[in-house]
Amino acid sequence: MSAGSIRRAQLVTPFGVGAMSVLVNGTSVITAGLDHWYVIDSPATIELGEYQAHDWRLEARLRVREFRLPPDYRRRPKGQDARNTNLKVPVLRFPRWSFCMYCKRLELSPLTMAAPVECPDPKHAHGPGESKKKPPRMSQVPFVAICARGHLDDFPFREWVHRSLRPSCGGTLRLESRGGGGLEGQVVICDTGNKPKGCGAERSLEGIMNSRWDNQVERTHLTDQLVSIQSPFYCKGARPWLAELDGICGEPLRGALRGAGNVYFPKVESSIYLPRQVGAVSATMHELLNRADVRPILSILNRIFGAAVTAAQIRADLPLELFKPISDAELLAGYRDMFGLGGSTATALPDNGTAGDENDAEEGAETLTGNEEWRHPEFQLLRETPVDDLLTSKETGVHRELSGFLDRVRQVETLTETRALRGFTRVRDESLKLTLGKNLLRRHQLSAEQDWLPAYVVKGEGIYLELNQQRLEAWEQRSEVVARAQKITENHGDVARLRGLPGRAVSPRFVLLHTLGHLLINELVFACGYSSASLRERLYVSDTPKRRMAGLLIYTAAGDSEGTMGGLVRMARPESLWSVVANAISDAKWCSTDPVCMDAGEKGQGPDSCNLAACHGCALLPETSCEEFNRFLDRGVVVGTFLHPRLGYFSDLLAD
Ligand SMILES: [Zn+2]
Ligand SMILES: [Zn+2]
Ligand SMILES: [Zn+2]
Ligand SMILES: [Zn+2]
Ligand SMILES: [Zn+2]
Repeated sequence: MSAGSIRRAQLVTPFGVGAMSVLVNGTSVITAGLDHWYVIDSPATIELGEYQAHDWRLEARLRVREFRLPPDYRRRPKGQDARNTNLKVPVLRFPRWSFCMYCKRLELSPLTMAAPVECPDPKHAHGPGESKKKPPRMSQVPFVAICARGHLDDFPFREWVHRSLRPSCGGTLRLESRGGGGLEGQVVICDTGNKPKGCGAERSLEGIMNSRWDNQVERTHLTDQLVSIQSPFYCKGARPWLAELDGICGEPLRGALRGAGNVYFPKVESSIYLPRQVGAVSATMHELLNRADVRPILSILNRIFGAAVTAAQIRADLPLELFKPISDAELLAGYRDMFGLGGSTATALPDNGTAGDENDAEEGAETLTGNEEWRHPEFQLLRETPVDDLLTSKETGVHRELSGFLDRVRQVETLTETRALRGFTRVRDESLKLTLGKNLLRRHQLSAEQDWLPAYVVKGEGIYLELNQQRLEAWEQRSEVVARAQKITENHGDVARLRGLPGRAVSPRFVLLHTLGHLLINELVFACGYSSASLRERLYVSDTPKRRMAGLLIYTAAGDSEGTMGGLVRMARPESLWSVVANAISDAKWCSTDPVCMDAGEKGQGPDSCNLAACHGCALLPETSCEEFNRFLDRGVVVGTFLHPRLGYFSDLLAD
């Protein structure tokens, strides 16, 4: 089976490896591991070059050689070029349990089953004189079982109904609905009147999704109560997307609906491409470098000569004609860019979080560099005026009305973003070590020299702005401002503690820039007619002395689109941006649900109570636009509150 009509970018997220989706024909499937991507009948017909993508910083961070774009399916034309045709992303049928709407029978089918499952129950058999009717099609059950180590299994109906870790009864199972909307009305039955004959056991599904924290240890009803707490039913480590139904685990297992939000949390790392040397390598050169007849040769040269290679040595081994128009300087710059060799003053990356530091190598293999460290080089380059085929940012003045509030505004005419899937979690969206994530994506691990991750690359454009440093530093000292950020930190800490996760200090400048980003995106959507899902925020915020940041990038992000064709960049011009900011700030003073929204801000509202004055009526965005799951938002720090109208950073902007 193949992923069929799922869009390419969606195969990175949200329907990447290990995620479930429903095909057009109604079959629920799980996207298979990377071992079988780009595998077709004959290796001669595959040319990976067009799927390979590079971002040297992200490659170093995730310890891979390259990224690969999910294949698009092309039919094989008769007698013509067969390269890269018939490539499919494999999927497997999951959950394996199907259910008959008519006779309620449960039936287990293989992962590889491509045809619809027909109900084998004798009830549908036709008598001698009857016309030959097909037995009804079964549909897959909505229930699965998950564990916090990323495993996913079929719901253990047979074990559950027989209250046994290893039931010997092989009777026909049925799943009956006995009224009531809840799980208590869903009853598993081991049918006595059918072949294979059952034992008559019955049990409702009540409680299968329950869990509780007991001394920082999470206990689940399914594990503790399938038999008893003395005889727990643990996860078996199943990874159906790798076609592994048995493994090693021992974590508590819980029931879940296959479409529920806790079944799959993709870990996607995003990078804005930073040229090693701005303007040194053209887009044409990048394309040449990625050719299948070029890259391997350069890799060999790099192994032999490293940074000491000469232009003549490179030319001697490459197709002469191709590189004729390329100057020696660009050739060498492209080579260095490719292997992350040397650097230049323009983009000296003091803490680029790449694998340079030997001491960090061990740790780095497990834990990724902090977001702040990772973002800082992006910040450093965006705020300048780089001109490069892959990243161009231009100075545009700050409108006089905004001059005390913003220090810099940039029109980011071109940017290139790579988004790579490096793993996923289930049950909770928690941190995931690099190797553990990779282990979930494929059965057979590759060495760092061969390793790759699925990604997609988008060319986009954006508006970059920075807050006024002086005003910001004075503002964030104010006690009533600190108190609001503190409230969010505490609310988040309470929830984190309950889940055994570390807390996080949320600073006033973070809440301010984050909320400003949401308000501006909402205004841009209103004023320019973009779909809000096509705009994305990227926050550059840090209090750390070495890398203080207070910047915000709003950029186009739609996976398959070509950006907004300059529309967004035009909005960064002083007059336009002034009107966008003024409208956004003025609208933010009143939410359609006020005074409720502002009042709720005194306690906290929204996801995990991590927002103060911010709700769907004023400051929330589609999930794809927000980096923080719509948490850590507050209009109060932007425009002030009813009680403290002067509290906001922008309170004086439209003061009457
Ligand atoms: Zn049936
Ligand atoms: Zn039985
Ligand atoms: Zn497990
Ligand atoms: Zn609101
Ligand atoms: Zn956000």
